[in-house]
Amino acid sequence: MKNFEDKKQKGLKVFSGQEDSKLITHLNSCVHCGLCAESCMYYLVTKDERYIPAKKVDLISSIYQRYCTFTGKYFPVLSKARELDEAAVAEMVDLLFGACTLCGRCTKHCSIGVDIGYVIKKGREMLTEMGYTPETLQSTVNAAIQSGNNMSIPESEFRDTLTWLEEDLRDEVNDPDASIPLNVPGKDILYTLNPREPKFFPLSISAMAKIFYAAKESWTLSTQMYDVTNYAYFTSNKDEAVTIAERLYNETVDMKAKRCVLAECGHGSRAFRWEAPNYLNKSFPFETMTSVELMAEYISKGRIKLDKSLNKEVMTLHDPCNLVREGGVIEPQRYVLKQAVENFIEMTPHGIDNYCCGGGGGQLAMSEYNERRMKTAEIKAEQIRKTGAKVVVTPCHNCVDQLMQIDNKFKLGVKVKTLSEVVADAIALE
Ligand code: SF4
Ligand code: SF4
Repeated sequence: MKNFEDKKQKGLKVFSGQEDSKLITHLNSCVHCGLCAESCMYYLVTKDERYIPAKKVDLISSIYQRYCTFTGKYFPVLSKARELDEAAVAEMVDLLFGACTLCGRCTKHCSIGVDIGYVIKKGREMLTEMGYTPETLQSTVNAAIQSGNNMSIPESEFRDTLTWLEEDLRDEVNDPDASIPLNVPGKDILYTLNPREPKFFPLSISAMAKIFYAAKESWTLSTQMYDVTNYAYFTSNKDEAVTIAERLYNETVDMKAKRCVLAECGHGSRAFRWEAPNYLNKSFPFETMTSVELMAEYISKGRIKLDKSLNKEVMTLHDPCNLVREGGVIEPQRYVLKQAVENFIEMTPHGIDNYCCGGGGGQLAMSEYNERRMKTAEIKAEQIRKTGAKVVVTPCHNCVDQLMQIDNKFKLGVKVKTLSEVVADAIALE
């Protein structure tokens, strides 16, 4: 029991951290209008009221009430105060880790601007402080910290993959000097990867290498630190998030790169571009941008020429929450697709109002919630089906994985591609 009491005291520190005023404001603001319910795919699909975003906020708020307010401390039965006991912890784990992708859609729809995603992240932080992070999710973080990438790919395996990809590139562009540069300091760009690429989707590395080749870009990869992901963002473990972000920061500085270009990864680009300067408490001496914006830049400046007749299939776009709603990259991918494909059709809704694929927030790593994850995916499957598209494009490897599972489960008969693959297919080399 003493052990749990110690954990509880650690968890409650979340209410007294530096950011406590923001958290407390948002915990006290909900007017229970109910508008956020219809924004959450967990509630929409199941109609289970526990999944309503405001209920998730209420759960954290009730614990705040119990330990941090006069009424809650001395007259808990008179308020909505709740003990932080093992039952409460189990409910929090199930709802905050197991029934939320941190998609942020509820926050955008809240009638008074409660930052629901932020509150849920702080709830996850409380659980992590107490040692209740789901092991499946934590193991992804551990792999990144221990090996340098979240899939524990050994350096020799990574180098082997890049060697044959380089040979393929030479064949593809018919140039024996075409290369995938490794560990070359002083280049304009240090390019990152999602470890799913070398492990499962090496063709997306080929695609970006072909785009760099066509743009005559000065770029390099690093074999020491190329992982764009930061799953500690999802566990809300700041120390571990700092460790991971610091490695990419140091590698970009050591490589003397002018730009750190973030591969197609929604949460990874958010974590490094928008969160890392706060984690590390400094501004960066290099530019940080996504490969989506870089491709748009190449096209608009005429550095690559595209022939959209090379992409004839009807394509639709899935917007990754962390890149679009939470990251502000909304138009570049649309501009790119309009230049790269003959038939592009939007989903309804799309852009900042798009539904999450269901794989965000660490859900793909937490296999214990697989059934629930695929149930909520009904919404995305229906969105895709209604477009009639044959290809779903998404600039996020996490979303690629979930969309492929959706295609399989709901028998959609679509291909799933990253934006760079679509662009590479349309490149007209001189
Ligand atoms: S962030 Fe997304 S998944 Fe989580 S409660 Fe809000 S709408 Fe639901
Ligand atoms: S929309 Fe905002 S104010 Fe209304 S119930 Fe949801 S969190 Fe509360």
